[in-house]
Amino acid sequence: MLKVLKFGGSSLADAQQFAKVRKIVESDPSRRVVVVSAPGKRSADDHKITDLLYLCAAHIEYGVSCEKIFDMIRQRYDEIRRDCGLNTDIDKDFDQIWVHMQHGMAREELASRGEYLSARLMADYLGFDFLDAALWLRFRFDGTVDKEASYEALRRAADGRRVVIPGFYGAMPDGRIRTLTRGGSDITGALAAAALDADLYENWTDVSGILMADPRIVDNPAPIRHITYSELRELSYIGAKVLHEGTVFPVREKNIPLNIRNTNEPDHPGTVIMENIEDEEDGSLITGIAGKKGYCVVTVAKTGMSSESGVLLRLLEIVENHGVNVEYIPSGIDIISLVMAEEKAQPCLYAMLGEMQKSIQPDSIKVTDHMAIVAAVGRRMASRPGVSGKIFATLGENGVNIRMITQGPEELNIIVGVEEKDFAQAIRVLYNTFMKEQKQ
Ligand code: ASP
Repeated sequence: MLKVLKFGGSSLADAQQFAKVRKIVESDPSRRVVVVSAPGKRSADDHKITDLLYLCAAHIEYGVSCEKIFDMIRQRYDEIRRDCGLNTDIDKDFDQIWVHMQHGMAREELASRGEYLSARLMADYLGFDFLDAALWLRFRFDGTVDKEASYEALRRAADGRRVVIPGFYGAMPDGRIRTLTRGGSDITGALAAAALDADLYENWTDVSGILMADPRIVDNPAPIRHITYSELRELSYIGAKVLHEGTVFPVREKNIPLNIRNTNEPDHPGTVIMENIEDEEDGSLITGIAGKKGYCVVTVAKTGMSSESGVLLRLLEIVENHGVNVEYIPSGIDIISLVMAEEKAQPCLYAMLGEMQKSIQPDSIKVTDHMAIVAAVGRRMASRPGVSGKIFATLGENGVNIRMITQGPEELNIIVGVEEKDFAQAIRVLYNTFMKEQKQ
């Protein structure tokens, strides 16, 4: 049994957090591969190490001294080392980094040192080997990760050892350090789990799993115990902020379950994400509810449109030529709506409408803006009748006017368009209705 663990910045913010990590790792001998982020914030007004490193890089770029910021970074690590009772020789690293910074250290390499130093300390603290990500996580020249080469290199380098790996970066074919996008340690962890064919990828953070709804809208939403990769994708696409984009692909490909856990509440089982779930009969019909504001809907109507060929194609071509994505396409017999992100569509809206007018010659074109999309996502919806009825009834009874309805062909979601002013209310009433039903 092998578990690959990734700990986020808040789990490494200070020595107290380091102690929690050690307890978690030591409580299970199959937890042999540990990926770490750079130390995050200790409190709301604190700074993330990675942010400070980027700040140093910006100072260097503009020729301003960053000595004070660099000292802050050094102090953070010194404090952790001292409070953990470690002798790790990071002073030499700091001196070298400082010298390198005076001679044109690349921004990405500088940013990667947060993870590098954090992994060095954690390896010492756990008594594991330090394994530099630059030795196995390989990028191609075009910036994509060369998975096959990386997997092979990690398999050889890790080879049954207990290791701590820094997240967030790897190496280009010429050896230069390259970082993933922000929050990318999640991806490093997933790549490591996939490379080593782990039985489980545990992603340790500061929340007890994925919540059924946004806690800024719903009071104390329940965590989701099990969710499929497809459901997760639906929820993240529509606005739930859960994991870094791209995290799930490596583990999903290998059918490795991903468990989101809370370092500050280690006994909580968190959320398990997997490909298929054997369902308990009494589970809630809905796995989660998410949504996003900022949509506009262009509705094109023309009598006889249904028997005219190529209308949809021409509409989509026009939108695509302007570089705008169509998110949903609810349609009727002689009417088609295109739902697009307002931010993208607004600058070229009139140009697009003009082209539609010319190409389709419709009876009418209508634009509705300030729309929000709310999606109820759940794998159980497909097999049980009455879910959409309940959604529409709930929204109706609570005075939320539904402006649009659409459902994906795999029946994983039911999506409604509402006015932005009704957005929060729609999410709240849906959550309350489906939670109440689950408790009964
Ligand atoms: N430390 C990096 C960041 O702040 C990467 C990570 O934490 O995953 O973006």
